[in-house]
Amino acid sequence: MKALSQQAQSVRASTTMAIDTQFKKMRAEGIDVIGFSVGEPDFPTPEHIKQAGIRAIENNQTKYTPTPGTLDVRQAVSKRLKEDWGLDYSTDEIVVTGGGKPVLYGALKALLNPGDEVILPAPYWVSYYELIKMTGGVPVVVETTEEDGFNLTPEHLRAAITPKTKAIILNSPSNPTGMIYSREHLQAIAQVCTEADLYVIADEMYSKLVFDGKEFVSFPTLSDDAKARTILVNGASKTYAMTGWRIGFAAASKEIIKIMSNYFSHSLSGTCSIAQAAAAEAFGGSQAEIETMRQEFERRRNYLYERMSQIPGVHPVRSEATFYMLMNLSELIGKTLYGVEIHDADDFADVFLREGLVAVVPCTGFGAPHYVRWSFAVSMENIQKGLDRLEYFLKNA
Ligand code: GLU
Repeated sequence: MKALSQQAQSVRASTTMAIDTQFKKMRAEGIDVIGFSVGEPDFPTPEHIKQAGIRAIENNQTKYTPTPGTLDVRQAVSKRLKEDWGLDYSTDEIVVTGGGKPVLYGALKALLNPGDEVILPAPYWVSYYELIKMTGGVPVVVETTEEDGFNLTPEHLRAAITPKTKAIILNSPSNPTGMIYSREHLQAIAQVCTEADLYVIADEMYSKLVFDGKEFVSFPTLSDDAKARTILVNGASKTYAMTGWRIGFAAASKEIIKIMSNYFSHSLSGTCSIAQAAAAEAFGGSQAEIETMRQEFERRRNYLYERMSQIPGVHPVRSEATFYMLMNLSELIGKTLYGVEIHDADDFADVFLREGLVAVVPCTGFGAPHYVRWSFAVSMENIQKGLDRLEYFLKNA
């Protein structure tokens, strides 16, 4: 048989999905494991959104829909962007499809020629790196530090730019760090993007889950120039507890949206008609339940941070948003836990799962090999148990 695609074979499976699968398999085998791995709100989808999905089925809204999304859902997205951030996007500047990943894939496809470089501040969400490769681009990782709040400095960005640089992926609030960029910092980044004529893929998936009263700034609101060079990515999954419905969207210039839609017309087609009807209600209807969920996430963040801070051997990085918290493992690197020498987060996560019965995401594939990510989109009771287990696991290693 002839060899399979080299490019396809070079793509690594998503760590977040792999850990979640392993965790669910252990649970199915009757093992008492607790999962902090995949980032998925534990709340049910709000009732009024579910009802919109049910109505869509009852009204036989079960046929193909336009590739970029129904007019209803695009109008609802347009309204949401206007009401939330004051952004003006018409319905032909919006495409709705099956979740954030296909949106990112389409966005990169629209921008990149083979060999074009895309700047990726580390730590980065695991899928960005592979998606850039999958779309013919070259990821250029730029390190950030915990001391700098994992914020990319304009100087480091400038230093990473070459004649081949086409775009940057900016993820604020960030998965996995939970950090958010301030307005001033974003303005400085935007200035560099303008000087170097870079596109910005602004992944703002966690924009509604911000803590401590901090201000979230949507990148395209910075200026007309910033808006013109941005592909804004967001979706329903995290904000409305709708991960399984698979709804993401991009807002950008008509030209970019048209190219993305052309691509989707041959690959994905329009997304599920029922999910779009539910998402139209999510984006267009009452937003009240978001705040209830956000407050609960903040309460859990506080608890997780306070307690983990008191556990010797590790230290948490206090997240400002999202439902993720990084745990710094530097003190454990080079030590032996339960017969395993810990070289990086992969080793730690593996032994913590097997011996401690807790699933966390190692951030090796996120460009942060000395950190693991805890998702606190799980019940308070499980967070307490998980931390009890961490304490016991480290004490008895
Ligand atoms: N984005 C979530 C996470 O990082 C869901 C899993 C995924 O999409 O990879 O856990």
